[in-house]
Amino acid sequence: MAKKIIITIDGWSSCGKSTLAKQLAKELGYVYVDSGAMYRAITLYFLRNHVDWTDKKEVHNALESINLEFVFNPQRQASEIFLNGENVEFLIRDLVIAEKVSDVAAIREVRAFAVAQQQKMGAKKGIVMDGRDIGTVVFPKAELKIFMNADNAVRVERRFRELYEKNPNVTIEEVKNNLEMRDYIDSHREVSPLRKADDALELDNTNLTHEQQLHKALDWVNSRLHKA
Ligand code: C5P
Repeated sequence: MAKKIIITIDGWSSCGKSTLAKQLAKELGYVYVDSGAMYRAITLYFLRNHVDWTDKKEVHNALESINLEFVFNPQRQASEIFLNGENVEFLIRDLVIAEKVSDVAAIREVRAFAVAQQQKMGAKKGIVMDGRDIGTVVFPKAELKIFMNADNAVRVERRFRELYEKNPNVTIEEVKNNLEMRDYIDSHREVSPLRKADDALELDNTNLTHEQQLHKALDWVNSRLHKA
């Protein structure tokens, strides 16, 4: 049977991690896991249930009531996240969730809850997972680690276009502030801060087309697959 590896893609918000991860998963026949969707779904649960996430006990009890599952939607050819049986894939992309998700994702218990499930998903390899701590904490022994980046203005523009399609009231300023805030919290938190793993390869896609970035990443995959 063909050798399968684990591919991790970390980096700043909105620099195209999920686009590349989906491209690679499709090309290689691997499973794609959007770890950010898990933190977003947990945030949605906390907001809906008025969980005071500064209270350890409340966080502990809330996590006990959360079941997360990814289900493949053949129509969209993509996995969608279910929170306690409800498809929340679209709800979690809202700016209301983006405003709070980095605070929730900085909580130690929340990270332990998500990381344990992410590690199980990678047990059989043949997986591409994107996030902030995938190459450093979730799969520190992954065969291929990619750390992505892109110019700030390009990242803001990309995320703005995505959000504007769903909500024409959103402003560039709001999107810019949100990205800056999340990047700051994600890279300064005490538990598993966003950082490049020492053995990660850097990919700046500011001036790359989707095809060019896929090509580059596939070269890296092939070099890893041919390593003993
Ligand atoms: O990837 P996405 O932007 O959807 O992630 C939303 C948020 O979830 C990030 O800003 C970060 O706070 C958190 N996150 C994380 N660790 C991951 C993935 C996401 O802390 N592995």
